[in-house]
Amino acid sequence: TAGSTPALRIENLEKSYDNGFVALKGISLEVAQGDFFALLGPNGAGKSTTIGIICSLVSKSGGKVAVHGVDIDEDFPAAKKFIGIVPQEFNFNMFEKVFDIVTNQAGFYGLPRALASERAEKYLRELGLWDKRDVTGRMLSGGMKRRLMIARALVHDPKLLILDEPTAGVDIEMRRGMWEFLQKLNADGTTIILTTHYLEEAEALCRNIAIINHGAIVENTSIKDLLRRLQREVFIVDSADPL
Ligand code: ADP
Ligand code: MG
Repeated sequence: TAGSTPALRIENLEKSYDNGFVALKGISLEVAQGDFFALLGPNGAGKSTTIGIICSLVSKSGGKVAVHGVDIDEDFPAAKKFIGIVPQEFNFNMFEKVFDIVTNQAGFYGLPRALASERAEKYLRELGLWDKRDVTGRMLSGGMKRRLMIARALVHDPKLLILDEPTAGVDIEMRRGMWEFLQKLNADGTTIILTTHYLEEAEALCRNIAIINHGAIVENTSIKDLLRRLQREVFIVDSADPL
């Protein structure tokens, strides 16, 4: 059945950068459809490298990635339709208007203009950015820019939303708002994977978790199980910047 195909399956993924640095040492992961999954790890662990490979922005050195059963090497255009990505860095045109940033993305997916406009309005409203629709991207605060990237990532209605440290540098109130939005999206059926270096964030949002360190998965279990088994202090990596 469709339900048994994982939303994401990573097998033995390896990455050596051009300078010889080994960023991923053969990681394997499976994320079920409907899950809210955290990839937790300190800076430099390999989180963004993993995400970059999934969305084909970074080449891999070995291993396999399948999204909803579609191997990214065999049919990336088909795999891409399932995925919405919110990258760690702001990567939109700062001089474009908010509404256009969201609807232009729809062009990459061949979405009809009217549908793109409808979805852009829906998500900009839900993310509290509708009154900013005619403002250029550079006029937005950091938290608003992040939410703009979430709206953009959702315009083609992906089954799997992947967010790379979406709440880093976002103040507490806005962070809560983003959490609520993501929880509702997940409850409505979208699989969500987020990277974070806050265990508290994973605990607040996620069902399952993998911990990555130095390019290797060191834990892969449910949040409940992890908290039961281990002292949480061990995993609070960035204690200088608590939630
Ligand atoms: P994270 O997102 O978990 O902080 P990254 O995936 O960004 O970690 O980086 C993993 C490791 O790979 C880090 O040590 C980083 O310095 C290194 N790295 C990232 N990009 C490159 C690159 N283009 N060339 C060489 N090393 C890189
Ligand atoms: Mg990163």
